Amino acid sequence: MFARLCFTLTVLLFALAAHAGDLLIENITLLSPERSAPVGHQHVLIRGGRIAAISAQPIAVASGTAKLDGSGKYLSPGLMDSHVHISSVPGLVDEDSAEVRALRKAFIRQQPRSYLYHGVTQLLDPSNYLPAINAFNAQPQKPDLFRCGAVPVLNGYPSVFVSAEHRHQHMPNFLHEPANTDPLPTGTHAEQHTPEAVVAEVKASGALCIKLFIEDGFGDASIWPLARIETLRRVREAAHREGLLVLGHANALDMQQHAVEAGVDVIAHGLWNWTSIDGTEGLPTPIAALNQRIREKNIAVQPTLRVLPGLAALFDANTLSDPAYTRVVPPALLNWYRTPAAQWFKQELKSEVGSDDEQRIYRRQMRIADQAMRALRDLYERGHSMLLASDTPSSPTYGNQPGYNTFQEMQLMAVAGIPLQEIFRAATINNARQFGLEKDYGTIEVGKIANLLVLNANPLASVEHWNAIDQIVLHGIATPRAQFSAMATP
Ligand SMILES: [Zn+2]
Repeated sequence: MFARLCFTLTVLLFALAAHAGDLLIENITLLSPERSAPVGHQHVLIRGGRIAAISAQPIAVASGTAKLDGSGKYLSPGLMDSHVHISSVPGLVDEDSAEVRALRKAFIRQQPRSYLYHGVTQLLDPSNYLPAINAFNAQPQKPDLFRCGAVPVLNGYPSVFVSAEHRHQHMPNFLHEPANTDPLPTGTHAEQHTPEAVVAEVKASGALCIKLFIEDGFGDASIWPLARIETLRRVREAAHREGLLVLGHANALDMQQHAVEAGVDVIAHGLWNWTSIDGTEGLPTPIAALNQRIREKNIAVQPTLRVLPGLAALFDANTLSDPAYTRVVPPALLNWYRTPAAQWFKQELKSEVGSDDEQRIYRRQMRIADQAMRALRDLYERGHSMLLASDTPSSPTYGNQPGYNTFQEMQLMAVAGIPLQEIFRAATINNARQFGLEKDYGTIEVGKIANLLVLNANPLASVEHWNAIDQIVLHGIATPRAQFSAMATP
């Protein structure tokens, strides 16, 4: 009786007046990760950009309210990718010419649309380059963007890739280890670069987290300075006092061991660099032992399975003829990718490995990628929960494109043997909880922000169905997917 009364009142309440931005989605199957199974024939009312009501009964609304017929369709929360770099144009040369400026401009316009095209409505960029963040947020329709503050050690990775004169400008919050005798950049003082001072700066910037870099060199190299465990622990203590999470970049066995010792909250990569261990098959004992430590300390892991295949893509003749590229890459940029000038990073990789044998380089990258997938599968089997995090783009490769790379990351998780329900959780509730955003995102529940996907097929039946998006609902506004394609005029 009481329930009946509440229902009647609800109908009355919503019937009072139509608001701009109201949306009623009718007769749809709900897929929400806190539910054990899909629920058919539901009606969802969105008001003021948030979910206002969910009912098995039709909801009466004022005439003029926008309606969407969900018959035969599925409603999912929008996806979150918790590792993307919005300031990088995949594969573009670092050059100040009119051509490059125009390509960059076209990319900035399309990037948020490409993420939305693939249903990614929340992003976390672990770096904090404000000009790029402002340019992203100035776009008319864009995913909700969160960020960490990048905290490299002085002259360490990844600041080594920025010229010495611009390094401090790009990554102002570096850590200074007293033992590092490199001169400090002009105008900076050691006391501004203690763990506590750096954490305070990042907190003041509005970031959710700190990103540390635990990387002494790619492959077997050991050439870049590392912060000591004690310094990293001080960062963690200061960050936790300020309510910030700590992410640690690490993808090699020894570097992830360092990250685990330092007590980071999230390791920002999968474990694919098995150093000198033979990785031909199975899971070597040291890898399994590290996974067990990660499990025991409950450290979250961002798989970033697409890093190596994104490099291998440069050696695959079919990459640029993949029809999916036409949906996410601006036409001018796609044409430029086909020019000799755009092969600069591929040439660099070839000279790095000292080989011209493209087939061999491709197979090598894919073999390392397979190690990442085996390590992830083992972590899952230990009962660890997954996060969706693609690291787009992870290097200057055109093989990691916004939105599409997130979808490809989900495909690889499936190949690695992660069940579809867990991939769904990784992309929604797990990312939301991990980054303290579950009040607003991650499930379809009353009160949450209406970032939702209407799908034509059930993605819990096949991972490919994440590519069957019909409409993207962003803060309550529904847009047909095709409008976000790079082939559509904005
Ligand atoms: Zn990254």
